[in-house]
Amino acid sequence: MMTPEKSARNAFHLMTGQPPEICVRAPGRVNLIGEHTDYNDGFVLPCAIGRETVVAASRRSDQTVRVIAADFGDVQDQFAIDQTIEALPGSAWQNYVRGMVKIMRDAGHGIGGTDIAISGNIPLGSGLSSSASLEVALGTMMQHLWVLPGLDPAQIALLGQKAENDFVGCQCGIMDQMISAAGQAGHALAIDCRSLALSPVPIPDDLAIIIAQSGITHDNVGGHYNDRRRQCEEAARMLDVAALRDADMPMLEAKRGQMDDVVYRRARHIVTENQRTFDMARALAEADIQAMSMLMAESHSSMRDDFEITVPGIDRLAEIMQRAAGKYGGARMTGGGFGGAAVALVRADQAEAVCASVREHYTTPAGTPPEIMVEKAAAGASLCP
Ligand code: ADP
Ligand code: MG
Repeated sequence: MMTPEKSARNAFHLMTGQPPEICVRAPGRVNLIGEHTDYNDGFVLPCAIGRETVVAASRRSDQTVRVIAADFGDVQDQFAIDQTIEALPGSAWQNYVRGMVKIMRDAGHGIGGTDIAISGNIPLGSGLSSSASLEVALGTMMQHLWVLPGLDPAQIALLGQKAENDFVGCQCGIMDQMISAAGQAGHALAIDCRSLALSPVPIPDDLAIIIAQSGITHDNVGGHYNDRRRQCEEAARMLDVAALRDADMPMLEAKRGQMDDVVYRRARHIVTENQRTFDMARALAEADIQAMSMLMAESHSSMRDDFEITVPGIDRLAEIMQRAAGKYGGARMTGGGFGGAAVALVRADQAEAVCASVREHYTTPAGTPPEIMVEKAAAGASLCP
């Protein structure tokens, strides 16, 4: 397999006949715990993974942006920075680039015409955040190429989130862009999604991160996502707090009688998940596998029973991984839900046994074996050397 950098360089040469001035990489991510807490101003604990998106780029002397997507059959896009930048209909890959350029331009960052080639090895739309990694790669590339002062990883993450919210039309929180921009090798990153304070948490060397794809996709993830957001906002209003991050279980129990049961359970997931995310950061730092395993199992049950974002196939996958990990690790669904992937944290010497068990006991709806990755926590976006 060609590396994303090589593939981006080749596509760049195909489009321009020249080598690029720079290449920038930005990783995908897996969330270890803290699901749907980000837009409740709460806490998340993701880590960046070895899969990444690479953009190769050079400055131009005019106001044109020209883009080639190596992973989409070398299709090209072209637009002008000094004119109205419009979104294409549907969820076209072009919109991530157009959105990022528009948001950066509108924020007053001094970018000019640019030739860009894109390639990545993050499976698209499978919950590992290829979209955020593309946005962060583009933002970081523009920062280096146009020597933009005062742009740090957190600001690039915020620009990426804004592009995805306002231009692409997905109301995601800040987690995905932040971990892609600010991840540290060998660490998970505890993110306070209100203050954006970042606390790196070392992942013990002898732990492996296993990500197994369920192969289940859902056609109305966006709709469910927006429903959950609305229910969380309603719960916060009833509890008279700015966001569910400010609620605790006694407050919630005191209001239970007046709350719709669904809204109550949605809030209970967020309140308990925030606490679990705290506890998980500590358990990870202390290499307390038993505590990690329990927290991951509780998180999964809470997503299944209270937040209702799992599906039977992913419940089964998480259960297979948990059973195979035994006392050496834990597992849960990761990502927004309704399919996607499950993640396990297990002692590295057990990783092969867990993978083998998943291959033996789980088949995707298409009848194929599940895609499994064994990962180490990677670093956030950077210039390719
Ligand atoms: P996820 O972020 O979970 O992978 P999304 O649906 O949010 O899934 O984002 C996937 C979309 O991001 C792709 O359909 C494509 O439009 C864009 N994208 C991601 N990686 C690339 C890439 N290497 N080249 C072009 N577009 C990409
Ligand atoms: Mg995405």
